[in-house]
Amino acid sequence: MPETLFSKIIQREIPADIIYEDELCLAFKDIAPQAPLHALLIPKQCIAKLSDSTAAEHSILGHLILKAPEIAAEQGYQDCFRVVINNGEQAGQTVFHLHLHILAGRALSWPPG
Ligand code: 5GP
Repeated sequence: MPETLFSKIIQREIPADIIYEDELCLAFKDIAPQAPLHALLIPKQCIAKLSDSTAAEHSILGHLILKAPEIAAEQGYQDCFRVVINNGEQAGQTVFHLHLHILAGRALSWPPG
């Protein structure tokens, strides 16, 4: 697996406020939260970005999408949250290990910046 900031969090080489873990994924609080809940949900397998994924990742991508509302609910935000995936530098991606931002706890405007 390529070393990324997030793989170091998976391996506990960098500390993080971990809020969920199973055999396939890990969720932890964003270091620079943009909302009262701002968690990052990542696969343990490193996929650099969403557009790199193929049909082989069907199962893990489904797992992540289904886990996001569970994690939001566990954090107290059952009905109102936003899930964001930045894909590529121009879209704002800075860490090249696929991650879902889970944001909740304030009014979120649209369109995003
Ligand atoms: P991106 O911009 O790639 O979509 O999101 C990367 C996210 O990772 C950002 O929201 C940033 O605040 C977060 N982040 C960067 N470094 C760390 C870190 O060391 N720990 C945690 N918990 N989050 C980080």
